[in-house]
Amino acid sequence: MTDFDDLLKANQEFADHFQLGGFDGKAHAGVAIVTCMDSRIDPLRMVGLKHGDAKIFRNPGGRVTEAALEALVLGVHLLNVDRILVIPHTRCAMAASTEDEIHEKIGASTGQDVTWHTFHVIPNQRLALDEDVRKVRSHPLIPDTVKVGGFIYDVDSGLLTQHA
Ligand SMILES: [Zn+2]
Repeated sequence: MTDFDDLLKANQEFADHFQLGGFDGKAHAGVAIVTCMDSRIDPLRMVGLKHGDAKIFRNPGGRVTEAALEALVLGVHLLNVDRILVIPHTRCAMAASTEDEIHEKIGASTGQDVTWHTFHVIPNQRLALDEDVRKVRSHPLIPDTVKVGGFIYDVDSGLLTQHA
């Protein structure tokens, strides 16, 4: 039972100074962000937000999947969201590899044939972003009053550029 000791110790210190109890789960800045799981991305800080301000949904590549849409509909109707940012990023492994290459790497790591598993690589990041933004804008349960933008985050400069 020691695998997580360092993290639990840090959590104890976090809890010792915790002053955010009783806070509601709404997005206080009205913002939802769909972005990649990449560890170079700090979704709140990169747009000047803080604890409690935004709903964050992450997956490999920052794609608008069915699960992401589910989160966004909940965010819009129950959690105060009125602006949605879809944010893939530069040098994303999901956009820099082919499905075959990912299969090869995971195959080498597991020592198994993994071709039965799909990893949803992104052949063209700009096209995928357009498509993802369109999916959100055209969703029947996301009203036109919600602003939706597609951006690419540069992991080397920290800058966001709007593309959709
Ligand atoms: Zn990524």
